[in-house]
Amino acid sequence: MSIAFTKTIRGVAVPTLGIGTWEVEGPTATETVADAIAAGYRHVDTAVAYGNHAEVGEGIRRSGIARDELWLTTKIWLDSYAPKRLRESAEQALKDLGVDYLDLLLLHWPAGDDAETEPALRALQQLRDDSLIRELGVSNFPDYLLRPALQIAPEIFADQVEYHAHLAHEKLTATALELDLMITAYSPLAHGEGLTAESVVTEVAAKHGVSPAQVCIAWLARQGNVTVLPRSTNPDRRRENLAALEVDLTAGDVAELDELSRPGKRYINPPFAPRWDD
Ligand code: NAP
Repeated sequence: MSIAFTKTIRGVAVPTLGIGTWEVEGPTATETVADAIAAGYRHVDTAVAYGNHAEVGEGIRRSGIARDELWLTTKIWLDSYAPKRLRESAEQALKDLGVDYLDLLLLHWPAGDDAETEPALRALQQLRDDSLIRELGVSNFPDYLLRPALQIAPEIFADQVEYHAHLAHEKLTATALELDLMITAYSPLAHGEGLTAESVVTEVAAKHGVSPAQVCIAWLARQGNVTVLPRSTNPDRRRENLAALEVDLTAGDVAELDELSRPGKRYINPPFAPRWDD
């Protein structure tokens, strides 16, 4: 295997590839999670907002995996950042997932009102002190918001952001290496919207005898402190995506793929998104 199966961040081992579950609901969510674990995934990503905690939890149970062999991340939605609400939302998440701790709990998006950030981070710290979560973090925080958040809560372990070969993150990846944080790349296949059809991607894939999706995942997974969340409801593609860890890109391949990035070329940009600084 040319890319490590786990990344060690602040002394904590996190499986490099996680199965994404956004827009994966009902029995498909259970089947996706159970089969991903059977295929070898050891990292599952969900969110309160995905509305699939019960089904994801059922998938985890159905897989038969021991809880301590799995990295489980979920996210608190924007309407639950007040400390009491955040606590209730986290406790409900544990109940719905059927687990007694989370490996990582994130604020899903930066708060609309900056004043909400500190109390929300303090509430996450309290959950960590109470051993309901192992690590705390944020999602969709550009570098200019991550740095002040780290002043409040230096234990922030991760920032989960849209990250793929169309949208490189020089600032965040430098910060991650400087401060030993995890950057988790969401929508690594650009939400299925065109990245895998880029000629550079298909040419590199053909050269290595692998798929374009594997090239996109390997480009991310080889980077220091980066973990990656491809989502597929297709069992064969789930296995293909996991096998991307065996793809050995050359420095030349990486340089060519680096050229695909364009500032602001993101696919996930809701009206409540922050000002981006990439
Ligand atoms: P993605 O992983 O970038 O792309 C998924 C799309 O690619 C699906 O249409 C899938 O179709 C297709 N696909 C998967 N594997 C493939 C392969 N080997 N070959 C060809 N096509 C393939 O999409 P995403 O769901 O946007 O992002 C992944 C995860 O990141 C989410 O599920 C979620 O857990 C997380 N996320 C977090 C946030 C946040 O705000 N923190 C936002 C977005 C996403 P099939 O299912 O048919 O294979």
